[in-house]
Amino acid sequence: MSRAKKHFGQHFLHEHGYLDRIVAAIAPQPGDRLVEIGPGEGAMTFPLLKRAGRMTAIELDTDLIPRLRERAADIGELEIIQADVLSVDFTALAEGHPLRIVGNLPYYISSPILFHCLKHVDAITDMHFMLQKEVVDRMAAAPGSKIYGRLSVMLQLVCEVTALFTVPPGAFRPPPKVDSAVVRLRPRPLAQRPDVDANRLYAVVRAAFAQRRKTLGNALKGLLDAPSIAACGIDPKARAETLAPADFVLLTRALTA
Ligand code: SAM
Repeated sequence: MSRAKKHFGQHFLHEHGYLDRIVAAIAPQPGDRLVEIGPGEGAMTFPLLKRAGRMTAIELDTDLIPRLRERAADIGELEIIQADVLSVDFTALAEGHPLRIVGNLPYYISSPILFHCLKHVDAITDMHFMLQKEVVDRMAAAPGSKIYGRLSVMLQLVCEVTALFTVPPGAFRPPPKVDSAVVRLRPRPLAQRPDVDANRLYAVVRAAFAQRRKTLGNALKGLLDAPSIAACGIDPKARAETLAPADFVLLTRALTA
């Protein structure tokens, strides 16, 4: 066992019950193009590799790699990419064969990793991630809820988001300070995804939620005036948290009109 490094967000999963549930949720099949973010000591890697026969793992910590390689040798074909996942081009990695991305993510960069995956969503079949429970709750939140915000809207427009189960701190070594949860993200078919520029959409969503207590008319000042918001069938006096994800697409279209 290696010493966990805090600056790499290392919390190694050791409880077999939860590992089994994660592997069952992923249900790997031979031939799947599995890519794991942050294999660590291989807690998830080896059971997945056993079922899939081959997989790719992206690990930033060079110290963990020799042992991973050694232990994988008897199980299957493990390609290890030593890199920061944010620098990995999933579209290039896929070579036209969509990937299944999995990982017990380093929590210090969980949101950047989610947005990075969204950029490459055309190269991805599905994603299964362990994250802070609070982040999973925000991802899956419905309009009207206090925690519904940027992450909920951006992810739900592109993916079907399913919170699967909670994992307590004691399942990890060392235990994190918070509860964790496993989430499944399935990219929506292309025809159901927003047909607007992702950067503009994000600009609207970001502005709308920047000050949650402001009305849309005020929050979007400089981007859209009240009549343009009303022309979308949306009350300029409404607050961002009451809008459905699709409403933000309408607002973005109005912006570009
Ligand atoms: N999968 C292992 C498990 O479940 O026991 C380890 C999970 S641990 C929460 C996160 C892993 O991500 C660590 O192995 C850490 O070194 C790795 N990691 C941290 N930052 C990373 C980055 N930017 N790119 C790739 N891997 C990273």
